[in-house]
Amino acid sequence: MHEASVTEALLRLVLDKAASLGAQKIIKVFLVVGDLAGYVGESLQFYFDRYSKGTVAEGAQIAITRVEPRMRCTSCGELFARARFSFSCPSCGGEGEATKIGTEFYIASIEIESEGEILHE
Ligand SMILES: [Zn+2]
Repeated sequence: MHEASVTEALLRLVLDKAASLGAQKIIKVFLVVGDLAGYVGESLQFYFDRYSKGTVAEGAQIAITRVEPRMRCTSCGELFARARFSFSCPSCGGEGEATKIGTEFYIASIEIESEGEILHE
């Protein structure tokens, strides 16, 4: 399953980051996920819980910030959310082109416990 392999990769990244920070425990993982990235939040947490057992990430909560896709107008440069069946700029009626906005998938930060202190890195 796709979410399963994505979650494994995510867990590796989180554990690497936690190790470099000397974390004893990972409390929360703040993820930024574009709507076009296609990964579903709930299954991500489900697989994360499963794979993180026995690691410092066990019990960590995943907080997802979704990013709505945006198009950029080729005439005026405005960024806008595409309306259904339309690529037109709402400001000037110009043609919109796809951007990377909405395809994000990265760790914004993690909340960890290190030597009794809660750190947000
Ligand atoms: Zn425009």
